[in-house]
Amino acid sequence: MEQRITHACGHEQTHYLTGFASQQDRKARWLTTTKCRSCFITEKKTAQADAASRDGAAIAHLDLPPLTGSERQVAWATSVRASHLAALVAEPDAGNTGAFQTCLTITDGKWWIDHRDLPNTDLLTTAGSYLCPASIAAAMPVPSCLHRAA
Ligand SMILES: [Zn+2]
Repeated sequence: MEQRITHACGHEQTHYLTGFASQQDRKARWLTTTKCRSCFITEKKTAQADAASRDGAAIAHLDLPPLTGSERQVAWATSVRASHLAALVAEPDAGNTGAFQTCLTITDGKWWIDHRDLPNTDLLTTAGSYLCPASIAAAMPVPSCLHRAA
């Protein structure tokens, strides 16, 4: 059944309620205590923007290299990196570790996205064992045929 609900924010929104009459009543009552959809989205966006600007300020002193990946990956990874680094900077000891320094040099957008849900300590551990493709290549023995050619 469709029902017009006046939400806590004062906006009206039509909801399609299902179930028994008693369930619909309960749902309708609960909905009146919540914000309407557009207020909810606005609030969430504002909170995200606030968090992003807080993170940005917290890591403004870091000289971060640009990330690599597709446009979408870079945009996503940039905010993932900002929120992780901001949290790490706030921890008294994390900022001085080698793993943290390694974190700063990881420019692979995919790496940040893959590890977005890791707790900070795990992120540092993972970063500590991270080898960028260039250093892997550097560590590889040069095939002898190349020696001869050179
Ligand atoms: Zn509203």
